[in-house]
Amino acid sequence: MTKLECSVTNCLHNTDNCCCKHAIVVDGCDAKEAYETCCGSFDQKKEGAFQNLFQTPESRLEIDCEAVNCVYNEKRRCSAGKIGITGDGASDASHTECATFRMRG
Ligand code: SF4
Repeated sequence: MTKLECSVTNCLHNTDNCCCKHAIVVDGCDAKEAYETCCGSFDQKKEGAFQNLFQTPESRLEIDCEAVNCVYNEKRRCSAGKIGITGDGASDASHTECATFRMRG
């Protein structure tokens, strides 16, 4: 399980810079830089959209990751102890990224 900090505060699943999902998917199968990755589980918070006010932040979660060029990627699972997803103000998943991505050297 990976500790996740997420600054995408306009995502439906974000509470207090944490994600309330039990598992997320990070996309970016051809990524060579962090900006080429994105959080595939992003859902934009919209006016009037249903949000479960009682959702609890998960500080550790399963991360399935398509960014196979990353040093932390092990069989499409993230093996990092801690990652950060960034993209405050995102209105689309492509505006988010895994800031912890590091290209295999
Ligand atoms: S650190 Fe690497 S393996 Fe982990 S989620 Fe980010 S891009 Fe994927």
